[in-house]
Amino acid sequence: MKPELHESAKPMLYWLDQHRTWMEDRLLELVSINSGSHNPVGIDRVGEYFAALFADRLEAAVDKFSLDPWQRIDMQGQMVEQALGSLWRIRKRPDAPIQVLLSGHLDTVFGAESGFQKSTYQDKNTLNGPGAADMKGGILVMLSALEALEQHPDHYNVGWTVLLNPDEEVGSPGSAGWFAREAPRHHLGMLYEPALPDGSLAGSRKGSGNFTLSIGGRSAHAGRNPEEGRNAISAAAHAITLLERINGAREGLTLNTGIIAGGTTTNQVPDSCVVKFNVRIRDPEDADWCLTQLENIQLTINQTEGFNASLHGSFGRMPKVLDDAHIKLYSLLKACGQHLQLDLNWHPTGGCCDGNNLSSHGLPNIDTLGVRGGLIHSPGEFICLDSLTERAKLSTLLLIALAHDGLPDSLAKREVQR
Ligand SMILES: [Zn+2]
Repeated sequence: MKPELHESAKPMLYWLDQHRTWMEDRLLELVSINSGSHNPVGIDRVGEYFAALFADRLEAAVDKFSLDPWQRIDMQGQMVEQALGSLWRIRKRPDAPIQVLLSGHLDTVFGAESGFQKSTYQDKNTLNGPGAADMKGGILVMLSALEALEQHPDHYNVGWTVLLNPDEEVGSPGSAGWFAREAPRHHLGMLYEPALPDGSLAGSRKGSGNFTLSIGGRSAHAGRNPEEGRNAISAAAHAITLLERINGAREGLTLNTGIIAGGTTTNQVPDSCVVKFNVRIRDPEDADWCLTQLENIQLTINQTEGFNASLHGSFGRMPKVLDDAHIKLYSLLKACGQHLQLDLNWHPTGGCCDGNNLSSHGLPNIDTLGVRGGLIHSPGEFICLDSLTERAKLSTLLLIALAHDGLPDSLAKREVQR
């Protein structure tokens, strides 16, 4: 970043310093609204809160879309539908030369029934609260960075789309199609998952698939005629030992059997058992290999007299691999961070997010531009409040660098649908 550019950004950085209390006050209100992934009413309240802020403060076009229900297999092996909250799209300057897709999720992992609903100050700079870091604080960072960009004289070079989705914490089953459609219309993506407490970012990410193996057997009395029964739990146990062999069979591949349910009473041979498991892969090519192994296990059960097995699920998120375009983008962000005395680094992670979705549709992105925080997905979740302005400044400098200097080469080559 050239010195004169940093000079031109100074009024925006100063404005963000003054903006800290406003952000903190909004965060306290947002954290008090439950928006667990299974609470579409609460998610829509949070969505409306943010939509009003984006509409008023950024004069952008705001649209609300309902999503198809999420279909999944329950622990009885039945297909059930789960209502999802709404998705919001906010757009400004779709004809500008550079198009940036920004995204954040409205949902948290804490449902309406969770005991974790309120925020508490642990000290002046540390707020504990559901979704404070993941990612209500992050969406406030995004909003504030866009507000700062709009104050810069070069802002007209950058057009942007914001997607606020309601289902990231359950794998984005309803919003995945939106990422697929929007990715080709943009040059790069900026997502607001929390950074680590030391400020470092996620680099490459593993892919993830959630699967359900539903096994049917035959019930019988455990004492009178057990030989006529076909024990679905025993078959599931056998299947699990086969699944465990996939674990580690390829570099970076892990499989976790997470939930199992079957049977009703001890004196009956159980006729059904449902097993849910998660698979993580580092190499995109391992997805097909893994699916073949799973189908073989299903076949093994089906070839045993009296049993039937069905397999549901897919790799909803493919690995995020850092190609040249990603490295250029991360390097540009690192240069921006140096102007804020931040020494930014990034590390591979087994976790995934919507950044996986965007990169699998060819859109280079940085997905941990949100606040610094930790213990996410636990009642200990906290945000470091000084990172609200720190990270808003970081995104602002990145947006201003793009607006002033244009895209790095490998990103400029990208053909963008208009
Ligand atoms: Zn998150």
